[in-house]
Amino acid sequence: MPEEPAQQVFDLVVVGGGPGGYPAAIRAAQLGLRTALVEKERAGGVCLNWGCIPTKAMLRSADVLETMRDGAEYGVLADNVRLDYPAVLERKDRVVKGLTDGVASLLKANGVTVVDGHARFVGPRTVEVVATGEAPLGEGGPRYNAPPAPDGRPQARLEGNNVIVATGSTPVLLPIPGIDLPGVVTSDGAFLLAEVPRRIVIIGASAVGAEWATMFNAFGSEVTMVELLPTLLPAEDEDMGRTLARSFARRGIKVQTGRTVTGIARPDTRRKKGAAPALRVTVADPDGQHPEQVEADVVLVGVGRRPNTGGLDLDRAGVATDQRGWVEVDDQLRTNVPGVYAIGDVTGKVLLAHVASHQGLVAAAVMAGHEERMDYKAVPAATFTHPEVASVGLTEAAARSAGHDVVVGRFPFSALGRAQTYGSTEGLVKVVAERRYGEVLGVHIIGPGASDLIPEGVKALRLEATLNDIADTIHAHPTLGEGTMEAAMVALGLPVHTAPPRRSAAGRR
Ligand code: FAD
Repeated sequence: MPEEPAQQVFDLVVVGGGPGGYPAAIRAAQLGLRTALVEKERAGGVCLNWGCIPTKAMLRSADVLETMRDGAEYGVLADNVRLDYPAVLERKDRVVKGLTDGVASLLKANGVTVVDGHARFVGPRTVEVVATGEAPLGEGGPRYNAPPAPDGRPQARLEGNNVIVATGSTPVLLPIPGIDLPGVVTSDGAFLLAEVPRRIVIIGASAVGAEWATMFNAFGSEVTMVELLPTLLPAEDEDMGRTLARSFARRGIKVQTGRTVTGIARPDTRRKKGAAPALRVTVADPDGQHPEQVEADVVLVGVGRRPNTGGLDLDRAGVATDQRGWVEVDDQLRTNVPGVYAIGDVTGKVLLAHVASHQGLVAAAVMAGHEERMDYKAVPAATFTHPEVASVGLTEAAARSAGHDVVVGRFPFSALGRAQTYGSTEGLVKVVAERRYGEVLGVHIIGPGASDLIPEGVKALRLEATLNDIADTIHAHPTLGEGTMEAAMVALGLPVHTAPPRRSAAGRR
C-alpha cells in the first residue's frame, strides 16, 4: 500500500491561483496567516494565461499593424507592412511568461507555500492534492480545466482553518447542431490556431467575441459576428453597442445583431485543391426565419461560461451552489460552510479579473478579522476592441427603469483636441446622472483610451460625485480625459466645445 501523505495544517488554503486566488494568498500572508495555494496549471489563472493578458498582447499587435498601415496619414511611410502571425504568438507567450513568472516570485517573496496539482475536498476544510490529468484540448492547450489524473494518488493533504475556492470558470459550447465539428472553437481553442483564419464566424458579441473580432479583422480575416440581442456588447449602454457596430461595419466586420446561429455543417469533406473544407454556418432570426448561409474556416463561440468545479468534490465539503452550479457567497465571500470562502468567477457574480482580485483581498481581510464587505456599485468593465469601450454604473436605460429622473451628457471624441492629434476620433463619452442633485449614476466611454479613462468615472460613483464635481475639476490639456469633463458640462447644459443646447439640462447650482 502506498503511504498516505501527512496532513499539513495552514491558516488558509487557497484553491486556484488566478487573479482571485493569488492576491488573496498574498494579502492573507501579509496579514500574518500561514497560507498555502494549490494551482494545477500556472499562477495567473485564465486571466494571465488564456484571457485578459494574451488577448491584449495580440490586440496590441493588431494595433501596431493598423497604425503602420495608416502611417502615410501621419507622414510616416513604410513599405511592405505585413503580419508575421507566429511572431505575434511568440510575443504573446513572452508577455504571459514574464507576468506569470512575476506572480510566482511574488507568492514566494510573501512566504506563500505553493503546491502544484489538482485539489479536491475530502472534508469541510481539508483538500487532497493529486496529479492533474490530460489537457482537454491536447498538448499545449489550457490545463486550468483539466480533470484530476484518473489514477492520481494523493501527493499532499492540506487542512486549512480557512479555505478559499478560487477555481474560476470554463467555456461552454452552445447547444447548436454541429457545434462539435472540428473548426469550432472557444476562446481557449482560438489561441491554438496556427494561422489566421481566412473566414471566421464569431458567435456572441460580448467582450470576448468582440475582442477576437477586432483582432482577426485587423489581421485580415473576413469576420462575421452574430449576436442574438439587438446590439453589440449587450451589457453596455446602447449608445456604446450602436457606435461599435458602426465602427465594425466601417472596418469591414459583418455584424448580424438580433440573429442566431441555428446550425453548423461541413457539407463537403473532400478537399478541393489547396483549400480546407469549409464550415457552412446557418444564421437566422431567433424564430428560424430568414436563414442565410455563411462559409467559414473557423467558428468561434465567444459566449457562455460555467463554474470550474469539476473534480473539486464540493459536496464532500458540503458547499452549496445555486441551480447553475455557481458557489453561493454573501457580501463577505463566505459560503454556507464556516471557514470556507469563494471568490472570482466561480461565484458567478461578475466574471472579471479585477472583481476576482478585489473579492480575494476582501476575503483575506475578513478572515484576518477585518470588517470589510463587497460593494458592486462601482465595478468598471473594459472591452479592448478598436475603438475601446469602458463603463461603470448604470446605463441610461437602467437608470430610467430604476425610476431616476435622468439627465445625460454626450461628448464626441471628434471635438477633442487630443483625439484629433492622436488621429483617433471615433466614439464619445456619455455621462448619466440624476437631474435633481446631478449625482453621477454611470459613465460610458467608447473611443481612444477608454479603459484608462474609466477610473475617473469609478471614483465619481464611489465618492457620489455630481456633474458639477466633474465639470469643475481642472483636467490637463490636451488630454483624452477632458472628454469626461466636457460630457458633464453638456449634461449641465453648459458645453464649451460643442454646440449650445436648445434648453438647459441639469442646471448648475
Ligand atoms: P481563473 O483565472 O479561472 O483562475 C482559476 C485558477 O484555478 C486556474 O489557474 C486553475 O488552473 C486553478 N484551478 C481550478 N481548479 C483547480 C483545482 N481543482 N485545483 C487546483 N487548481 C485549480 N477579465 C477582465 O477583467 N479583463 C479582461 O480583459 C478579460 N479578458 C478576458 C479574455 C478572455 C479570452 C477570457 C476567457 C476571459 C477574460 N476575462 C477578462 C475574464 C477573466 O479572465 C476572469 O474573470 C478571471 O480570470 C477570473 O479569475 P479567477 O481567479 O476567478 O479564476
